[in-house]
Amino acid sequence: MQHIHRIIGLLLCGLLSLTASADWHRKDAAIMGTAISVELWHDDPQRGGELINAVLAEMHRIDAMMSTWKPDSDLSRINRTAALGTVPVNRELRQLITRTLAFSELTGGAFDITYASAGRYYDYRKGEKPGDAELEAALPAIDYRHVVIDTDNSTVRYRHPGVTIDLGGIAKGYAVDRGMNILQQAGVRHALISAGGDTRVIGNRWGRAWQVGIRDPRNAAGIVTMIPLVNRAISTSGDYERYFEEDGVRYHHILNPGTGKSAGAVRSVSIIGNTATTTDALSTSVFVLGVEKGLQLVNRQADIEAVIIDNEGTMHFSTGLAMVQ
Ligand code: ADP
Ligand code: MG
Repeated sequence: MQHIHRIIGLLLCGLLSLTASADWHRKDAAIMGTAISVELWHDDPQRGGELINAVLAEMHRIDAMMSTWKPDSDLSRINRTAALGTVPVNRELRQLITRTLAFSELTGGAFDITYASAGRYYDYRKGEKPGDAELEAALPAIDYRHVVIDTDNSTVRYRHPGVTIDLGGIAKGYAVDRGMNILQQAGVRHALISAGGDTRVIGNRWGRAWQVGIRDPRNAAGIVTMIPLVNRAISTSGDYERYFEEDGVRYHHILNPGTGKSAGAVRSVSIIGNTATTTDALSTSVFVLGVEKGLQLVNRQADIEAVIIDNEGTMHFSTGLAMVQ
């Protein structure tokens, strides 16, 4: 009997010394104007911490290149000069802009980085929006076909004056994917990275799927459903993130490129897919498209699912999710 106790004791000690080194490591930060979390499992606490810092550094690097809030970013420089003539663009930024143009084609123009030609007149914190004349003048500048990329020479040019582009609908997802590449190349097998509404996970958590909640668009504390994820990404676009109200109208940060005004068809869209760049771009796109056209698009794509909350608060699921409901 005593013998058995000793064996159990030894086993417990072994287990404790294992768990004392291998553990979850987590850090939160504010980058790209949003809340970032990185969580991973690693045997070596110091290495785990270094990897988290490498992910955060990568996000700072992307922000410095792509932010329209920073006048010295590569993107701001392009916005100042690309309507005047061809401008050199680094390969990474060129490739991401090229991907956004493919999403514009895929979504029939619902996703359009030139939305910012009108979008730059909105300030949601100050409650400012473009006047009618301003909006009318900006509308002809909204068209992704105005953005001309020359891949061989790595240049960009805007075909129309007044064009401004903004990568706010895709850059966070892109940053999450880049961060995850760093972790995967370092051999990490269980991790979550999230940037605001964009999250990607690899592996599982304690042997179970990661759980990501979808928020009630009209109650910050309410979760309408939990989505189990393994090796997947999820992005949510909502009309509650950045907005102000005036005369009963909600002015929020997702614009219909056809009107230059906030898209009003739904309250939130969550897209599940393999990479966060794709889910980020598609959540913004489906928000603009609305329930019917949005689900049609999603159901045509392999490996993409959607949960849409309409203006009555009713949830709609893509076919792959509806089957398991
Ligand atoms: P969040 O920024 O809260 O994660 P989204 O992923 O839906 O939300 O992105 C919204 C952002 O996308 C806006 O802040 C703006 O920068 C950009 N955006 C708005 N409308 C469009 C559009 N029609 N096409 C592409 N990008 C857009
Ligand atoms: Mg998005």
